[in-house]
Formats: sequence, structure tokens, C-alpha cells
Amino acid sequence: MNRKGGTHRKDVLKRRNRAYPVLWMSRKKAIRRKDEIGQPVVANASARFLTTPVVNTLAKRETVVLAGEQSAARREEIADRREEVADVRQQTADQREETADVRQKTADQREKIADQREKVVERREEATGRHEKIRRTRRKAVKAKEEQHTQTEAELREANENLVIATVHAQTMKEVAEATTEQMSYMAEHDFLTGLPNRALLTDRLAQSIALAQRNCKKVALMYLDLDHFKQINDSLGHAIGDQLLQSVAKLLHACIRSSDTVSRQGGDEFVVLLPEIEEVQDAIVIADKLIKTTALPHLIGDHQLHVTLSIGISVYPDGGKDLEALVSNADAAMYHAKQSGRNKYQVFTPAMKAHAATRQSIKTALHRAFDRGEFVLYFQPKVNLQTGTLTGTEALLRWQRSGNRLVLPAQFMSIAEDCGLILPIGKWVLREACRQARAWLQAGFNLSQVAVNVSARELLGKDFLAFVRAALDDSGLAPHHLELELTESGIMQDTDTTTMILHTLKDLGVQIAIDNFGTGYSSLSCLRRFPIDTLKIDQSFVQTPDGEAIVSAIIAMGSSLKQRVVAEGIETQQQLAFLQSHNCAEGQGYYFGRPVVAEEFVKLLRA
Ligand code: C2E
Ligand code: MG
Repeated sequence: MNRKGGTHRKDVLKRRNRAYPVLWMSRKKAIRRKDEIGQPVVANASARFLTTPVVNTLAKRETVVLAGEQSAARREEIADRREEVADVRQQTADQREETADVRQKTADQREKIADQREKVVERREEATGRHEKIRRTRRKAVKAKEEQHTQTEAELREANENLVIATVHAQTMKEVAEATTEQMSYMAEHDFLTGLPNRALLTDRLAQSIALAQRNCKKVALMYLDLDHFKQINDSLGHAIGDQLLQSVAKLLHACIRSSDTVSRQGGDEFVVLLPEIEEVQDAIVIADKLIKTTALPHLIGDHQLHVTLSIGISVYPDGGKDLEALVSNADAAMYHAKQSGRNKYQVFTPAMKAHAATRQSIKTALHRAFDRGEFVLYFQPKVNLQTGTLTGTEALLRWQRSGNRLVLPAQFMSIAEDCGLILPIGKWVLREACRQARAWLQAGFNLSQVAVNVSARELLGKDFLAFVRAALDDSGLAPHHLELELTESGIMQDTDTTTMILHTLKDLGVQIAIDNFGTGYSSLSCLRRFPIDTLKIDQSFVQTPDGEAIVSAIIAMGSSLKQRVVAEGIETQQQLAFLQSHNCAEGQGYYFGRPVVAEEFVKLLRA
């Protein structure tokens, strides 16, 4: 705008200069002069040539012009001032605008700042929150650390305590382990019941003795000892009494020998005495004699005064065996012979005994083969009603029909079959075959009240005996009351609880039970009390000797009062029969009526 005003003024001046070129050139000077003299002055030098009216006119004109110029100038000034004011206004407006802008900007900035502050505040808050969180986390961490520390300390304390306890425990355990090891090594070498050296320790000492004797040209004696009929004492009086008797015997045996000798228990009622340095066999015999006599002294066990005898087999190194195994087996063979020849004695081993032992071994082998080949046969012996003479039943007796038609009796193989366990399959065969045969005779219409089958203790206590009896009856179709099982006293007195259960089960089944060889055992009377017995078979040793008559009559009377059948065994003579008849013995069996025969022969007796 100002610039506009400036341009306008310049235009006015230009126009004026064009109209009055000469005059105007000195106008300023003229104005200055007029001011000095107080009247108009011609500005140009050339004005000297002008006339006065003209000059006046000119002056007037000039005054008008000047006035015009002045008013123009004033107007110009006003315009300028206006322009300036406008400029100022403009400037002010601009400034205001600028101020407004600035204000706006300031406001914006304030807003921004406020926003930023807000953000800052928010961030601060966030930061504070985070800090708080961090602080909390730190606090927690510190707390956790403290807790952990406390826990760790507690754990350490506990671990320490445990360590101490464990150390003490370990020490105790070590001591216990040492004591146990010591005890175990003692137990490994000693018999738990008697405290005597066992088989292992004896073997060790025997080996040493043989080596020493070899070097010193001396003899070593080995004695195999077995208590006679110990089983019966054990069975009738119980295992506790039996054990005490074994301890008592062990003590006596130990008292009879020198400290350099060894007495050991092999198990059961078997003992072995080792005399490591003897000059001759006689030295061993002296000791054996002493052992037999000492053992025979009464043993006071609880309320019982027990008597027991010894059978001893002696083998002497080097003649009776060059090594350990030979000495042991030969002493055993000699002991077997002492038993065979009446018990309560010693036998020194001879090569003939070895032959006998070899025979037993070969019988054992042959028995297995015989069973596989079916070489066993059942013989039947009649049982007779002694008053009427009629046949009441039969006893099945086993025979071994060897090749070459040689008939072997049970006495020659039964003990071997029992020793090696072959009695179990053989016994099953006997039972099945006896039931089958009896059923066949009954079906054929023969009058037969019972077939009796002998059962050894080993069979009776076999785990499937009852099941097998049932199976034999079922398979044959024989009614149980037609079957009678003959058991020996010593057989049923073994493991009496089991036996009681088995016998009652058999009784419930309807099977008859007989005690064979009644009167020979220690426990005849307790048998009758304990078990459900139907029949008493008086042993032939009582029937055949006058000494036994009193026992026979007592058994008959007892059977009659206990309502048990009494069968007398081994009747060979009319005299024996007459005695039994006079004492009202119901039944009998023996060569007088008939020997055991094969089934085909027995049919003839049934028919007769
Ligand atoms: P045991 O049960 O006492 O049988 C009676 C034994 O006496 C039988 O001997 C029989 O032949 C014999 N005998 C019968 N009457 C007379 C007689 O008047 N005088 C003489 N001197 N003897 C007579 P065996 O057949 O030699 O049987 C001996 C033992 O073998 C039997 O004695 C029995 O204990 C056992 N035995 C026989 N067969 C079997 C069997 O199948 N199983 C079992 N476990 N043992 C059997
Ligand atoms: Mg019998």
C-alpha cells in the first residue's frame, strides 16, 4: 500500500515536470526564496526576461500551483499517512494475525505441550506403574530369595541332620552287616539246630585230614551215624521233642570225641564223626562203641525219658576210600548194613558192601526201565471171615516181573523206589489197576466187599493224592466203600495235620482206612484217637509167635470196643487160626488161606 502511495506521488511529479519544464527546475529554490523574502519569486533564471504582469500571473499561478502542490503534497502526505496508517493497520492486522497465529501456535504448542505433558504424565504413570511393578517384582524376588534362603538354610540344616543320622545309621548298618556277615559265615558252616559243624565245614576238614594223613602216613576214620527209629519218636511226640532229642544226642556225641575230632550234623537224624589221625581201624571202633553206648543212655526231654539207639558205618582212609567222596559213600553203605543187620551197632566198610550199594544203584536204574516197559504186576491175596471161612476181600500186592520170568518181591525194591521217588508213579498205577480189577470182579457178579491197596507215607503226602484217588474211583466206576487204603502207623504219623485232613476227606468220600502192621509202631494208640480208622491189621509178627498172643487178644478187644474191624495177618497154621477164632477175631489173611496170586488165579478163589 505504501509502495502504492509512493508510485502515485512519483506519477504526479512526472506529470508536473512535463508541463513546466523550465520553471519547475528551480521551483524548490524559488520556494526557498519566497520563504526568505516573503513574496513569490520566479524560480528560473530565465524569469528575468518576463514581464511583471506576466510575472504576477505566473506568480499567482505559481501560488495556485504551489497551493495545489501543497494541498497535493498534503494530500499526498495524508495519503502517505493513510497509507502509513493503513500500513500500520495492515502491520497491526498482520501483527495481530501473526499474534493470533503465534497465539494459535502457542495454543497449539501448549496443547501439544499439554498432550506431551499428558503423555509424559502417562508415561510417567506407566513408568511409575512399571517401576511399581518392578519394585513389587523386586520385593517379591527379594522375599522369594529370602524365603528360598530360609528354605535352603532349613534344607541344609535338615540335610545336615540327615547326613549325621545317615552316618550314624551307616555305621550301625556296617556293624550290623559285619555281625550279619560273621553270623552268616558261621551259619554257612554250622547246623542251626545243634550248632555242630555242617556238611560244608566237614567236607573242608575231611579234605585237609586226608591231605595230612597222606603226608604223615596216617589213617583217617569217617563214621556215618543214624538214629534208629527216630522218625517214630518225631512223629509220635512231635517235632519239638524230636528237635530237643537231636540236640541232646549232639551234645553227648560231642562229649565223646577229642577237640581235634569233628562231629557234624548232616541233616535229619544223620551225624558224621571225623577222626583225623588214627593209627588203626580199632581206634575208630573204640570210639564208635563209646558213641553207641553213650547215645543209648536215657535222654530227659521235658517230661519224657527217651531212649534212642545208633547205627554206625565206618570207613577208614586209605583202605576204605582214597578220596572224600569214596569215604563218605562207603561209610554210608556200611551204616546201611548196620541197619539191615539189626540196628544199634556199627559196621566197618568192606568191598562187599560196596557191591551191595552198587546193586541198589543198578536196581534203581532197572526200576525206571521196568516202569516204562510195564513190568509191574498186581497179585491178590484173599482176606477171609474167620468164623465162616468165606472170602471177604483181597489185598493187592505189587510184584516186579523181571525178564526171564523172575518175580521180584516188594522187599527187594520198595525201599529203593521210595528213595528215588518212583513209588509215586508206581503207586498210581497200583491204585488204578486195583480199582479197575475190583470193579471188573464186582461187575462179573463176584462177592467182594473190598480191595485193599497199600499206600506209603510218601504217596499219601504227595500233592495230588486225593485227586488221584477220586480219579481212580471215577475212571473205574468202583464205589468208594469197596476201596480200602492200608497205611502204616509211621506213615500216618508224619505231618499229622495234613494226614488228618487227607484221612477225613477220604472218609467223607466213603473210602475205608486200615492201619497196617498195627502194634509195631510207637504210636498205635494215638493213631486211633486222631484218625478215622475202620480196620486194624494185626502185624504177622504177633500172630505167628506165642509171645504175641497177649497183644493179639488186646488188639481184638480194643477193636471190638472201638467198633473197628480187626484183620489178623500172616495166618499160616490151624493153631494160629484157632487162637484167633477163640478170641473172636473177625477176619484173617495168610498163607493158610492162600498166597498172593495173579488176578486170573484169584478168580478161581472167588468162584470157589
Ligand atoms: P504188607 O502190607 O504187610 O503185606 C503183607 C505181606 O505179608 C505181603 O508181602 C504178603 O505176601 C506177606 N504175607 C501174607 N501172608 C503171609 C503169611 O502167611 N506168611 C508170611 N511170611 N508172609 C505173608 P509182600 O507181598 O512181599 O509185601 C511186602 C510189603 O510190601 C507189604 O507188606 C507192603 O507193605 C508192601 N507192599 C506190597 N505191595 C505194595 C504196594 O502196591 N504199594 C506199597 N506202597 N507197598 C506195597
Ligand atoms: Mg498191607
